[in-house]
Amino acid sequence: MDREKKLLIGVLALQGAVQPHKAHIEAAGADFMAVKTAADFEKIDALILPGGESTTMLKLIERFDLWDSLADQFTKKPVWGICAGSILLAETVLSPTQKSFAALPITVERNGYGRQLDSHHVDINGYPVSFIRAPIITEVGQGVEVIASHNDRPAWVKKGHIMATAFHPELTLDFPSPMHRAFIDLARETA
Ligand code: GLN
Repeated sequence: MDREKKLLIGVLALQGAVQPHKAHIEAAGADFMAVKTAADFEKIDALILPGGESTTMLKLIERFDLWDSLADQFTKKPVWGICAGSILLAETVLSPTQKSFAALPITVERNGYGRQLDSHHVDINGYPVSFIRAPIITEVGQGVEVIASHNDRPAWVKKGHIMATAFHPELTLDFPSPMHRAFIDLARETA
């Protein structure tokens, strides 16, 4: 692609931590857009499904009839699911089971790190990130690359153009996070 063209990275803005991504995306040399309609999705080069509450996001996706247009985006653009976003992308969701897009062959156990550890900070690849009522990625399918682990469990994974992190890097005010950098590199390779 034209190296001068800035990529436009969309963050699904139905619920959850949307705006904190802006500074990371811009520091990594791309533009940010909060997206919530099928028309918005067509404008972006790559999509972030943010952390928040996956059950609420699912309800809003269905209420606004976005299921098919999101599923279509997942087949053709780089997508990064963060925490609740990783739950939406997972093939299998446990505790309790819930509907998902099955765009990434992983199994996640919701709130798997335990309620007493609702929120904790950890260094991943030398960068402080937040686990907030995070899922545990309990299984990864064939072809899934584990980029980083936490407590011997995969915490940052990727297969092809689909990436997921169980944690939030965007709440750390040191821009850009290595995960944003990696995602935008992936989007550059794909564009
Ligand atoms: N526990 C939330 C869920 O199950 C995820 C939390 C988060 O995204 N920080 O959807």
